[in-house]
Amino acid sequence: MLLSDIQKATKAELISEETKTIEIDELLIDSRKIANADTALFIAIRGSHRDGHQFIADAYKKGVRVFLISEKIEQGLYPYASFLKVNDTVAALQQLAAYHRNQYHFPIIGITGSNGKTIVKEWLFQLLSADYKIVRSPKSYNSQIGVPLSVWGIEAHHNLGIFEAGISQPGEMNNSEKVLHPDIGIFTNIGEAHSEGFMNQRQKINEKLALFRQTKELIYCKDHHELNESIVQYAHQVRNNPDNPLKLFTWSQKSDATLRIHSIERENNVSVIKASYEDKERTITIPFIDHAYIEDAIHCWCVLLLLKLDDAVIAERMLHLHAVAMRLQLLHGMDNCTIINDTYNSDLTSLQIALDFLEQQRQHPRKTVILSDMLQMGKPDRDLYEEVADLIHQKNIYRIICIGPALYKNKEAFRKYKKLRSIFFKSTDELLKKLHMITFENEAILLKGARSFRFEKIEKLLEQKIHKTVLEINLTAIQHNLNVYRDLLPKGVKTMAMVKAYSYGSGSYEIANLLQFEGIDYLTVAYVDEGVALRKAGITAPIMVMSPEAAAFDRMISWKLEPEIFSIDSLQSFLKIANAFNEQHYPIHIKLDTGMHRLGFMKHELDALIAELKNNNASKVVSIFSHLAGSDAADFDGFTEEQAMHFNEMSKYLKDALEINPLLHLVNSSGITRHPELYYDMVRLGIGMYGFDGSNKIQSQLRHIGTLKTTIAQIKELPKGETVGYSRKGILKHESKIATVSIGYADGYFRDFGNGIGHMLVNGQPAKIIGSVCMDMCMLDISGIENVKVGDEVIVFGNDLPVSTLADWAKTIPYEILTSISQRVNRIYVNE
Ligand SMILES: *Cc1c(COP(=O)(O)O)cnc(C)c1O
Repeated sequence: MLLSDIQKATKAELISEETKTIEIDELLIDSRKIANADTALFIAIRGSHRDGHQFIADAYKKGVRVFLISEKIEQGLYPYASFLKVNDTVAALQQLAAYHRNQYHFPIIGITGSNGKTIVKEWLFQLLSADYKIVRSPKSYNSQIGVPLSVWGIEAHHNLGIFEAGISQPGEMNNSEKVLHPDIGIFTNIGEAHSEGFMNQRQKINEKLALFRQTKELIYCKDHHELNESIVQYAHQVRNNPDNPLKLFTWSQKSDATLRIHSIERENNVSVIKASYEDKERTITIPFIDHAYIEDAIHCWCVLLLLKLDDAVIAERMLHLHAVAMRLQLLHGMDNCTIINDTYNSDLTSLQIALDFLEQQRQHPRKTVILSDMLQMGKPDRDLYEEVADLIHQKNIYRIICIGPALYKNKEAFRKYKKLRSIFFKSTDELLKKLHMITFENEAILLKGARSFRFEKIEKLLEQKIHKTVLEINLTAIQHNLNVYRDLLPKGVKTMAMVKAYSYGSGSYEIANLLQFEGIDYLTVAYVDEGVALRKAGITAPIMVMSPEAAAFDRMISWKLEPEIFSIDSLQSFLKIANAFNEQHYPIHIKLDTGMHRLGFMKHELDALIAELKNNNASKVVSIFSHLAGSDAADFDGFTEEQAMHFNEMSKYLKDALEINPLLHLVNSSGITRHPELYYDMVRLGIGMYGFDGSNKIQSQLRHIGTLKTTIAQIKELPKGETVGYSRKGILKHESKIATVSIGYADGYFRDFGNGIGHMLVNGQPAKIIGSVCMDMCMLDISGIENVKVGDEVIVFGNDLPVSTLADWAKTIPYEILTSISQRVNRIYVNE
């Protein structure tokens, strides 16, 4: 698209037009993710905690020359760049995408609903790829920004589009409708969960229906009562123009429908679904038994029928549906490597997303990509792999290992870049045979392969052999929680993120990488070693250490870690070392004791502190802070007020005497939700980021971040009267089925959970712990739970069994459960 087209589509004011002839291919909203700068349009979006305008300089430095903005900028700083100015850059992005979409006239399928959007989209892609050249939303791009970015991906060779659209606030679906303008609609279902910003279910449904303002056919399940009523009403009252009616394609298990489902039978691992459509009996079999997947598959079936696919073809393809793993996995590999496993799909967009994530892995400067032939249709191989090679080159990849005949044929595209090491294999098996000859050491390895290349075989060889109990940490959920808290803060208030105690048990650099990428202002650890580990992993954000040992001050200085100073003794020993290192203005943080009575200066010690600091410029006070003892509870609000009063008084006294103006900070997570009047210059966010709101004000907006899983090692059928475990505590009152699982108190699973207090989830059902918890194992009563086998996964905690429930069993708080999970439990990380 040329500048003039962009201007036309967005009605922007052209501030300077140095680059009239640049043809824009790519839309960028994040200056950290620039790949093809010379054909990119950078759109500066003002978000709630970041303003894209602040990154114009960065994007310009990386070569971008065309910008869409909504604020004044200093044009003189950017020679030879063009700026298009609008009132609202998100609206302009939507207009741009709508303009682009209107150039094409092939059918577009629009999917909305509470659950299943991404699975239905990905399955339709699997089911229809043989017949159509499909463009679809990457991952779950369904927001106000995600939808237009997805639509921008439409190219001339496509002939079917499949896009999803979601909403978080009233009014949004109207915007997405203008961009997508779907011909066929799917409304998957409507969840029960209360959603912020909506009065009730009806309102939420009606809002989503706005996506189908012009749609010709709408597919949905009639058995969702409220959904059905709303849609029927919508079709009659809103879409009542006889020239452009909305045709309803319904399915139902209970009553007459376009596709009438007669039976769903689950056998072993498949479901057989029988139905009639246009007076003919039809059957499909899908390799899933889960209720939600069955619903998703039936939605897809409706689309295939609507597109008039042959029954035999439908049956064949349904049988081969495969699971959609929508997440990148971060695993610990052998020889100090990190493995990013992404075998979700293999096209250019998803490669780019995976490369961005690879780039965030600061712990390894060296990066390797193992890539299979890609299933990108419509582009000649040569052009495709030249684009891939270009992308790999721009991301500073150290080495690429290419697998597959198409890549093999296009070696030259990669060899062109002299510094990039490239190795080629015709098949995965060929690589597996030679794998022992390739050295992988201290690097991040991205495994990006199409499913048919079976990259899981490579992953198995590279992965560290692990204990069967794993803690899966969802990085996207941490990011979400962080932003929920940041949204509460007024502009200008900084965030210090607490990553002490191994980030409350969830990980070290893995979490810090994410927080640094999110632009956090400060990171905080408890001990020097934790800080050094982060620095060694490439974390460059400022780090405060809360309990620095005097013996380690020299290490702190060499690793640029900033101490919390809480006593005259600690200050004196720090200054001694800082002077010996000839440091000047080394940043330190002064902790005041305002009533918590843990660490910190008391009022009567301030004069001595001032005297010590006045005579010395080896250090500089960059912040003054204190900690609240009862920020979570209304009972203590009076005490909190007193603490704040002391904090004001003491910090002012220090500031005046030393003539300094450092950052002031007082509140932790509960303080953020309960005491907006006490934000000062910065807040310290801990447990909230990890999914718990101790003040119980915003718990429903937070996401669970961790799932602790183990496996079944053995199953026994035992008669009544037998006992299970040490001291014969688990007495069987009936004949029972007992499963031994691989987790015990040495993993941090409390002994208190034993003897009927706690349970785990086996096949989604609660199974009580029988007998005492042992060191490495414990036993579950699985009587009555069907289809359980040795090796099956068991959920210790997660979405359906929250950590707070375990905390209640042990009469403690979630902090203790999380931080107790021992280091031998391997952490794996997922990114949605
Ligand atoms: C741990 C800690 C925090 C964070 O507390 P949360 O309740 O986890 O938010 C804040 N400040 C200090 C001094 C801490 O030790």
